[in-house]
Amino acid sequence: MDERMNAHKIAQKLLMQCEELAKISEWPDSVLRQYLTPEHKAANKLVAQWMCEAGLVCWHDEVGNIWGRLISEQPDAEHLVLGSHLDTVPNAGKYDGILGVLMAIEAAKALRKQGVKLPFHLDIVGFADEEGTRFGTTLIGSQAVAGHFNRDWLNLTDAEGTTLLEAMQHFELNPGLARKAALKPDALLGYWEVHIEQGPVLASQNCSVGIVTSIAGARRARISVQGKAGHAGTTPMHLRNDAAVAAAELTLAIESLAQKTQAGEVATVGSIQVPQGAANVIAGQCDMLLDVRAGADANRDELISAIEQSAQQIAEARGVSIRFDWYHKASAEPCSSEFQSIFEDAAQQLDIQTPHLPSGAGHDAMAMAAITPIGMLFVRSPNGISHNPEECVYSTDVAAAFSVLHQSLMDFSRRYQGV
Ligand SMILES: [Zn+2]
Repeated sequence: MDERMNAHKIAQKLLMQCEELAKISEWPDSVLRQYLTPEHKAANKLVAQWMCEAGLVCWHDEVGNIWGRLISEQPDAEHLVLGSHLDTVPNAGKYDGILGVLMAIEAAKALRKQGVKLPFHLDIVGFADEEGTRFGTTLIGSQAVAGHFNRDWLNLTDAEGTTLLEAMQHFELNPGLARKAALKPDALLGYWEVHIEQGPVLASQNCSVGIVTSIAGARRARISVQGKAGHAGTTPMHLRNDAAVAAAELTLAIESLAQKTQAGEVATVGSIQVPQGAANVIAGQCDMLLDVRAGADANRDELISAIEQSAQQIAEARGVSIRFDWYHKASAEPCSSEFQSIFEDAAQQLDIQTPHLPSGAGHDAMAMAAITPIGMLFVRSPNGISHNPEECVYSTDVAAAFSVLHQSLMDFSRRYQGV
């Protein structure tokens, strides 16, 4: 069968499988599938069945990730890991994470059916907990695989007060063995993840597939603006130290500074509150939350110092004080340039345009970057919608992403063998 026709048939199948997995939900009318729930178990079972049908050897690890392997005939073969996650946020879409796992299985199946002999094991993983919906800590599945399972997590509780330790036991996992889920970095060639973009960039460029350059590093701050409360009727405008107006000016300054950056840095004031605010009181205090992200830590920190400088000027001009409390920091994780060029070459052979873009959202690849080089492909998110039932993908985009993944695997295999 013509390759292109075949990719379209596979895309149709993948979309049907996504629909089927979405039926495994804690909620009757929308999708919620959390870590270590009966739904997690049922999803693993169904995915394991699909892995087996694809000819993969299948198992689940010590923290509940599901694995399938296309075994290489080479003795002492290394491993290339492909995957994404199977858990969801509340009221989720059907493709976030899931599409990447299922596409990897289909790619392995296609290689097996073609009789391609890989010089490395192809390991497909469905990570159990990326979103952190149940216990509030993200990437438990991939962090465990990367050797970063933190024993303190066992004391985390869900909304019902069930601890992670109890939930693992209930899932028939031994919490004492959780660290055994860690892979040996020496045996790894890399980790590849296909994921929906969850943003509007590919849609705005009318492209099906993109190559991720890095996963953005983020910093978050609580900003406290202290002014002077006063009577809204009796205090003339020129005698005010209005915290809310200073916060508004700072918000506009942050937007303008981020707009002037060159490498797609983003900054967001996601919350502005005047504690005990009232219509007839000049705000004495204003609390803001700021999130700054960039594909490279140096760019992010440069934007942050510009924001702090601007805050200083606003504070002086308005007679208020502005304090930043940086409470969250995550480093950017660059994607392997070798993998980016393999994806690029594969796409060129297929005549598929693949813009390069950073990922503003976090992914399992971030955790895997601690032990092995990472590569990521994005599939266009029409309208940029995700974490919502309206999340969708075009079948033609899924076919394009599958073709790029499949071709990349064949090319990487040839490169590995020096052919
Ligand atoms: Zn995801």
